[in-house]
This record gives sequence, structure tokens and C-alpha cells, in this order.
Amino acid sequence: MNLILMGLPGAGKGTQAEKINETYHIPHISTGDMFRLAIKEGTELGRKAKAYMDQGDLVPDDVTVGIVKERLSKDDCRNGFLLDGFPRTVAQAEALESILTDMGKSLDYVVRVDVPEDHLVERLTGRRICPTCGTTYHVIYNPPEQEGICDRDGSKLIQREDDQADTVKNRLDVNMKQTKPLLNFYSEKGYLVTIDGDQDIDQVFQAIQSAIKQ
Ligand SMILES: [Zn+2]
Repeated sequence: MNLILMGLPGAGKGTQAEKINETYHIPHISTGDMFRLAIKEGTELGRKAKAYMDQGDLVPDDVTVGIVKERLSKDDCRNGFLLDGFPRTVAQAEALESILTDMGKSLDYVVRVDVPEDHLVERLTGRRICPTCGTTYHVIYNPPEQEGICDRDGSKLIQREDDQADTVKNRLDVNMKQTKPLLNFYSEKGYLVTIDGDQDIDQVFQAIQSAIKQ
């Protein structure tokens, strides 16, 4: 099963990726992990990527695509893979198509976990952090015993600037705008399945399982 997982921040992609990995025994390949591995193994592409990253520059597409190709050629991908965070653009998606064709493979599904933006904002702005001990809470999903107060040390909880409504909304809007052409690309190719991510974790996973049944 060759899959791509897509979803906005807060949509619960990480949790679903873990479940897919456990159930289908295909590796969860995130962009960050892929880069770290290539750098750790010291491959030529890994060294190139590191040089860009050390300069604070974006890694160019040909290097990224090469690293993806190396990763997908590894033995643990013989029964499939779950890509997360790649591709990000239509150009990368086209490059992925040709990598897979060269390898005699093809995509099965692009799974998009969809949650309405206002609910994402609610999820993402609910986070509170204790400035003293660093414990993370969520006003809805993981509230402290006493509102606004750390259970451990009684400190007043704070909201990070990154988690404030305007910042969150802006981040989601940018993300949505960037992924739209990609969603259209995969939709036209017939790979895209959209899953309602606005239900509990197990229901979302059940919906994914029925959508990717072959
Ligand atoms: Zn604390």
C-alpha cells in the first residue's frame, strides 16, 4: 500500500499515521525523519542537504527528491510506505510520480484528513503551558484540575504566541493556500480520498480503513 497522508496542522495526522503504520506495517516516512536519516548515514545527498540547512537555506527540490528516492528504495518500503510532509508542491508530486514509475510502483491513495478550519483553530488555540515546569495542557482535551493553574506547581499557565488565534488562523490560511493545487492535482488523478477528521480518533481511523480497502 503506497500512501500519502495530508492534513492541516491540528487535524490529527500524526496519530493516524501511527495507526496506519501499526495496522498495515508500512513505514511512516516524514520529511524531517528522511532528512535526518540521510544526514546520519552521510550519503552524498544527505551531505548536500545538510550544507543548505546549516546555511539556513531551503533544500532545493532536486536534493529533496533524491533523498525521497533513496528512502523509498530501502527494504522496509517493499510492501509500501506512508509519506507525510512530501510532496508539498505540484512539481514535487510530479517528481514523485516519475520516481515511482522508475521503481515500477505507483501510488494507491492520497489520504486527506479534513477538519473544518474553525475547529482546527479551537484545537490549536487551546494549548496552555506551564512556564515553570513546561507541562502542556489543553483547555478542552487535557485541562488542569483548576482552570489556568498548573497541577504540579500551581504556576499560572500561559498561552504561547504561536498558539494565539490570529497566528493560528494565519498559519492555517497559508497552509491551505499552499496545499490547494496539490489537492487538485491528486483529485484529478483519482488518488484523493477525503476523510472526515472531525470525529474521534478511532472513527477517523475506521473511515481511513474503509476508504483504502483494495
Ligand atoms: Zn508547572
